[in-house]
Amino acid sequence: MRIEKNTVVSISYRMTDSQGELLEEASAAEPAAYLHGGYDGIFPAVEAALEGKEPGAQIDLLMQPEDAFGDYDENLVRVEDQSLFPANVEVGMQFEGSSEDGHHHLLYTVTDIAEGKVVVDGNHPLAGQSLRLQCQVVDVRAASAEEIAHGHVHGAGGHHHDH
Ligand SMILES: [Zn+2]
Repeated sequence: MRIEKNTVVSISYRMTDSQGELLEEASAAEPAAYLHGGYDGIFPAVEAALEGKEPGAQIDLLMQPEDAFGDYDENLVRVEDQSLFPANVEVGMQFEGSSEDGHHHLLYTVTDIAEGKVVVDGNHPLAGQSLRLQCQVVDVRAASAEEIAHGHVHGAGGHHHDH
């Protein structure tokens, strides 16, 4: 079966940064699965590269930041009073919060703590990075009506929930 809209695609992959350091991987034995066709299950650039492919096909994709986790945005770095944070706050901790304009929900990572101030960065840790994705199609099947209605994959490698 070829990859087209409303197919469930299982892939093994290796994602590396521009220095070749491994960031994420999935083996053929435990592949990642997503619902193909613009459901935000995977980067659009990857969907475009996989469109029409069959099991066994391989792609090797170099993604610019705008195709991956976005450009680094200095405006997403904020300095806050340490009194707003739990007493055990430390570099590397993550907090959910809204952006300065209140329009976006972001995950902020603490990058520095000094003199009663905490620096938090709302950029994705991989923002600004070019990524290389090498992946192989493991399996392609038709999605169920329920998966299409939910916009995600159910079962092995997919989304787990009770509804
Ligand atoms: Zn669901």
